[in-house]
Amino acid sequence: MKKLFSILLLLVMSASSVLAETVMFNTKTGKIHKLTCPSAKSCTVNCIKIDKKEAKARGGVPCKKCGG
Ligand SMILES: [Zn+2]
Repeated sequence: MKKLFSILLLLVMSASSVLAETVMFNTKTGKIHKLTCPSAKSCTVNCIKIDKKEAKARGGVPCKKCGG
């Protein structure tokens, strides 16, 4: 039973990683930030909130600090 629970947990975790995640995308530098990243909070002019997939499609790269 315990094993079944961990398998279920693993499935839920892997499923949530493919679900849409909103990130802050800097259109000028092409950096992808997590919404909690200090750089994302200070970025107000060139940053837009978009789906992570969309940001990557636009050529975005994850921020080194927050891992985008
Ligand atoms: Zn960042």
